[in-house]
Amino acid sequence: MISAVEMVEVGPRDGLQNEKTIVSTADKVELIRRAIGYGARRIEIASFVNPRKVPQMADAEDVVAQLGKVEGLTRIGLVLNERGAERALACGIDQLGAVAIASDAFGIRNQGQDSATSVEVAKRIMAMAQDAGRTAQVTIAVSFGCPFAGEVDPARVVAMAGELAASGPVEIALADTIGVAAPGQVADLVRRVKAAIGTLPLRVHFHDTRNTANANIWAAVENGAAVVDAALGGLGGCPFAPGAAGNVATEDAVYSLERSGISTGLDLPAIREASHWLAGVMGKQLPSKLADAAPFPPEHGAE
Ligand code: ZN
Repeated sequence: MISAVEMVEVGPRDGLQNEKTIVSTADKVELIRRAIGYGARRIEIASFVNPRKVPQMADAEDVVAQLGKVEGLTRIGLVLNERGAERALACGIDQLGAVAIASDAFGIRNQGQDSATSVEVAKRIMAMAQDAGRTAQVTIAVSFGCPFAGEVDPARVVAMAGELAASGPVEIALADTIGVAAPGQVADLVRRVKAAIGTLPLRVHFHDTRNTANANIWAAVENGAAVVDAALGGLGGCPFAPGAAGNVATEDAVYSLERSGISTGLDLPAIREASHWLAGVMGKQLPSKLADAAPFPPEHGAE
């Protein structure tokens, strides 16, 4: 059992992208600065996708420019095709986030690519990053279930992971894009994918749509996942699951990992403060549980 995981803060991208209220560029940059403040060293800061399809991300280049390069921080930009990769590389992003899709039905609806095509595109994106002297991560979307096709064959996910690992990403991620995974399923798939990718780190990405995200993280970490995605406040509802909770909240994941003896490198009181700030910006209560729970252990001791 490992004693530390690396957290990737995905709030500025996955957290915000489905929010109807357009967040200003200044507030996005402030969100990233606060994440740096609570200890995040890898942050998904934007996605370089069609602004007509995802208006919230239309200012991706401006976010990168206003934030600037930050010593010790890896700024990740999500890209779904070569055009997005060109944009991200042109504005100086540190790491490309490529996506391959485990289900044909989801791939065709979400980005007009079947699963096999999405693997080829992800491989080309990784090559573009390497040619530009940058790095790339790759995420296998809907690894645990598809909103259109239902169950996803784990053998397909394992085969994709093995093929993608050969293209030199910094890690392979299994994403529960719509929040249907359960801990036993996670334990099984993480073990099988680990066996297929050797020493390459495995990252996991969970949504808390069905209240399983923290249990899924624990199942993944117990079985060798080394990197965990989370979004401040738990923002990031899925367009295919109206009204659902979003990404696992950074504060909830950090609480449960740290109190289980797994170091995350993040500072929980600072995350809570940032979460309260973000609730103010969004003008609503966020899905996070920890943001409003009494601090434990008590911050000022018993009186
Ligand atoms: Zn997500």
